[in-house]
Amino acid sequence: MSRYISTAVIRGANAIVKEAEGMLAQAIAEYGPDTPVAFTNTAYYLPVTFGLTGMQVENLGDMAEVLQYARSMLYALPKEQTWLPYLGEALDSGIATLLAEEVIMGIRFVRGEQPEKIPGLELVGTSAPAESGYANGPIDDIQLRAWGIQLVDGRMPGFAAIAGAAKSNEVAVEIVRQLQQRNILVFLCGNVNGRSIIHQLIEEGVEMGYDTYIVPFGTDTISAIYPLGFATRSALTFGGKKGGQAREILLYNKYRVFAFVLALGEVDDLKYATAAGAISYGFPTIADTIIPQVLPTGITQYEHVISMPFDDIEGKDDIERAKRMVQKAIEVRGVKLKITDVPIPVPYGSAFEGERVRRADMRIEFGGKNARCFEYLYMVDLEDVEDGKVEIVGPGFEEIEDGGYMDMGIVVEVAGRKMQTDFEPVLERQMHYFINGASGIQHIGQRDITWIRLSKAAYEKGFNLEHFGKILHARFHADFGAIVDKVQVTLYTKPELVEEWLEKAREAYDYRNRRLADLTDEAVEEFYSCTLCQSFAPNHVCVVSPERLGLCGAYNWLDCKASFQINPTGPNQPILKGRCLDPIKGYYDRVNEFVQQASHGSVEEVSMYSIIENPMTACGCFECIAMLIPEANGVMVVSREDPSMTPAGMTFSTLAGVAGGGLQTPGVMGVGKYYLLSKKFISADGGFKRIVWMSSVLKEMMADELKEIAIREGDPDLIDKIADERYATTVEELLGYLEEKEHPALAMDAIF
Ligand code: SF4
Ligand code: ZN
Repeated sequence: MSRYISTAVIRGANAIVKEAEGMLAQAIAEYGPDTPVAFTNTAYYLPVTFGLTGMQVENLGDMAEVLQYARSMLYALPKEQTWLPYLGEALDSGIATLLAEEVIMGIRFVRGEQPEKIPGLELVGTSAPAESGYANGPIDDIQLRAWGIQLVDGRMPGFAAIAGAAKSNEVAVEIVRQLQQRNILVFLCGNVNGRSIIHQLIEEGVEMGYDTYIVPFGTDTISAIYPLGFATRSALTFGGKKGGQAREILLYNKYRVFAFVLALGEVDDLKYATAAGAISYGFPTIADTIIPQVLPTGITQYEHVISMPFDDIEGKDDIERAKRMVQKAIEVRGVKLKITDVPIPVPYGSAFEGERVRRADMRIEFGGKNARCFEYLYMVDLEDVEDGKVEIVGPGFEEIEDGGYMDMGIVVEVAGRKMQTDFEPVLERQMHYFINGASGIQHIGQRDITWIRLSKAAYEKGFNLEHFGKILHARFHADFGAIVDKVQVTLYTKPELVEEWLEKAREAYDYRNRRLADLTDEAVEEFYSCTLCQSFAPNHVCVVSPERLGLCGAYNWLDCKASFQINPTGPNQPILKGRCLDPIKGYYDRVNEFVQQASHGSVEEVSMYSIIENPMTACGCFECIAMLIPEANGVMVVSREDPSMTPAGMTFSTLAGVAGGGLQTPGVMGVGKYYLLSKKFISADGGFKRIVWMSSVLKEMMADELKEIAIREGDPDLIDKIADERYATTVEELLGYLEEKEHPALAMDAIF
């Protein structure tokens, strides 16, 4: 590493540790050493500190030790004449910097100064934690896990931490759009002379928040600690690493977390020092100014600090230069990204899936309150479809006033030698994601409750009905090319035809529902494995059966079956059930064998239908956690979307630490929410009637389905007898509620 950078890093580290020490002394004098310190909504204390040192900081007093440790990693500045490799010193100083920065953030929380106030900032997304006018602050554990599944299945390759401010607002927007189109999470922090890229994006009206993959952390360099906390927690959450396993956590990030830093504008000592901390994680820094570079040597495999003076980048204008810079950053970090070229006039990528189209910004909507919209995909013979044909049958929407509505039916015909009717619903469900990926288009629902909004902005860029067909054609080929050879799309807007096709579609939906109801675990020869999450949780395997979907909720038995067809050596392998050893608990000899091998020996046996005995393991992406409440002779089910306290004395975030990591924990299980409705839901332990507590959001989200289950269980008022966080957050309250409502679990056999 160059002496220039090492010197800057060491200087920056010394200064920030000193600053943190001063702040801490003052805070302790002011508030007392016992004042609690916590980042919001995380079970990992100060996560970088916890990950790298194992220290569990809970109050101001605890922080003194952290700073002592940081100080022990500081060095004197290199002398003018000596030429040493400096790398070790600089990396240690980088870590010291991160610890000091995290301490400072902890103190800011105590002072009520976090998240940072940023006028004009309004985060989008249902899960946005902050009120408008505030930055995001640390990402909460729930959001981290919610992204987990996308991070593991590759839909989301990783993150880019952007620090500073771009040359112009235009460049800022282009950089962010380029990253969004590749589904890379964008984390924002830092400033140059008081101006931050966050300000630039606010001025340009770019939507920021979890749903658009753009997370503004704060306008100073210190807020870069949050992305690194996110990286640390990935290793703890998905990698099964423990606090204090510094080396393992850093290596995990180097090999499994695709991330880099874009340093925009002038780089000062603190930025160098923070970047040195990021280098220990394997995250390179790409700067748009002239700085000394750190290139591969014997120790490092790839460039760690790259200088790309913005105006020297080849390109006809700044937009092109911004594109090149993003490309270069991705090359340096070395991940091959698969992007599908979708021929439409608006940006396209999963980062746009979460975009809302507000009524005021809407050009037109299909479906919703006033209109009808449906989508229907079915297979036909190869000779009956013309690949790439998109036909509009009926009028366009040119005549309809701004903010108006119309009926539409999207009918997709696919053909392929390896296509099966069973795959129709699997493919049809993808239409939601495919269409939503277009910037300025919002897609909600499926089947005959589809609801699509098109924004004025997208319309002005030239988006029209035909583009829905273009998107579907491109994506079905790209994502399902192994089973789909030809795709033809017809959009019906002519009222009689919408009616006619809706009838046909409904017959098909009905047929599929019946088919699904007939698909029982007994009726099939094989289950499927899912080991997708092993890239993050190396010993976890989901066993997916017709009556038990994957715990992330994203893969059911049919999905896995289709996925095996698409990629025969992929993460979904058929598991022949073999001999049934116990039909009640759901033990099968070949399933056990498979799980032993796929979990690398860490799991011996797995029961399909019990939470008490050898339950299935969990990675980190479960939709819900089911957990035994012995006092109530039943289980509670907590939703990922529920931040409240549960009768187990833990919130979802804390529980998730107990449930995940690929270990078998009797009495605790991560589950997909639709598994609750299955006849096989903990059927060995008494089934659905064992649920004594359930997050109210689940009750609301699945109200109709749950009503049916209550009837199936012979107790139409059952759902009302189940407590939720509004009635019980302690065991005592829970028992009181259950007794008052005469919940059946109280009268059932002892659960274990
Ligand atoms: Fe991960 Fe299981 Fe979902 Fe597969 S089914 S993606 S292993 S949680
Ligand atoms: Zn997972």
